Amino acid sequence: MKSIEKIWLSLAHPSGREEKYIKEAFDGNWITTAGPNITGFEVELAKYVGINNVVALSSGTAALHLALILLNVSKDDIVLCQSLTFAASANPIVYQGATPAFIDSENVTWNICPNALEDALKHFISIGKKPKAVIGVHLYGMPCMIDEILYLSEKYEVPFIEDAAEALGSMYKGRKAGSFGKMSIFSFNGNKIITTSGGGALFSNNEELINKARFLATQARDHAVHYEHSEIGYNYRMSNVCAGIGRGQLEVIDARVSQRRSNYRFYHEKLSNIPGISFQNEPEDFFSNRWLTTITIDPLTAWTSSEEIRQHLELHNIESRPIWKPMHLQPVFKKAMYFGGNISQNLFKNGLCLPSGSSLSTHNLERIQQEIRSCLQTGHKKASDRN
Ligand SMILES: *Cc1c(COP(=O)(O)O)cnc(C)c1O
Repeated sequence: MKSIEKIWLSLAHPSGREEKYIKEAFDGNWITTAGPNITGFEVELAKYVGINNVVALSSGTAALHLALILLNVSKDDIVLCQSLTFAASANPIVYQGATPAFIDSENVTWNICPNALEDALKHFISIGKKPKAVIGVHLYGMPCMIDEILYLSEKYEVPFIEDAAEALGSMYKGRKAGSFGKMSIFSFNGNKIITTSGGGALFSNNEELINKARFLATQARDHAVHYEHSEIGYNYRMSNVCAGIGRGQLEVIDARVSQRRSNYRFYHEKLSNIPGISFQNEPEDFFSNRWLTTITIDPLTAWTSSEEIRQHLELHNIESRPIWKPMHLQPVFKKAMYFGGNISQNLFKNGLCLPSGSSLSTHNLERIQQEIRSCLQTGHKKASDRN
């Protein structure tokens, strides 16, 4: 078979501005977890998201872990978490010795379902175990039903943590994702919309919380000439070199959002009229950065399953991926409680993430949509041959 260029799901996309900041780090010998790039990156992030207090960290997972520590989540506490997500949304709950309970998605944004969430809140409150926090996710960049979740968070006095790892640049009612929760986290892992090669950030409107997070992230060192510690600390700070990559990336975030949104528009235009294919729609008031374009395939209408399409694409050197497998179906969380129905499970069963990098060429986008079409045509042909 003639070799054709591999198309990946989502690749880092350098702006060319990164080296300048990295060079500054080396020139100033700030090759450590402090320095002008970290300070600069935090200021620029704060401005972009519209929240004043931010700490740059080694990963999104570390940010979520610190958020839970700051809410005093500890042994045997309950934390409610969206089930349809990446495991990093839930793992920090277990780091704290607490117990996660998982919540189904709703059909519109695919994120944490307000009705199932309220059932869970009522249940745990009725048995005297009020949850310590709710973790909601903006999956693939689509904000969750923020007003409804904030309403429940206030009504039951359980703080809402926004896992905005995938949603830098997304908005709800004109305000940036990550500016609504008691705290919010972002990830700058290599496959996210912008990257620091690996990194994350924690945001809050509450300055004290972020100061405390910065203290905990740098080994909880008290004010003293020697090393004095009255609390357990963590080594969770972002490196000043990595923050330089982040600054170079953040300069082009608006372009990256529009490139990813234009991928979505391309796929939608070419594929949405095919029976059995549905897209993650953007309701009024919602603005997704379209980190990944995701579709669902109804095998009864399309005569082809999402897995058959995935395999067909793989055969043609195109990487696609199933939607996150819900946490309540993961072996590691098999004992966890779950509230809701089959929405997250069905999204997992029928969903597919299409290549969505901001550097995808039109030529490659064409290749992808043609392969999806040809796979569906084969499915239809097989079906009609059978009849
Ligand atoms: C990527 C991701 C994380 C974790 O971020 P890291 O920086 O990789 O630790 C958390 N939650 C979600 C939803 C993610 O996609």
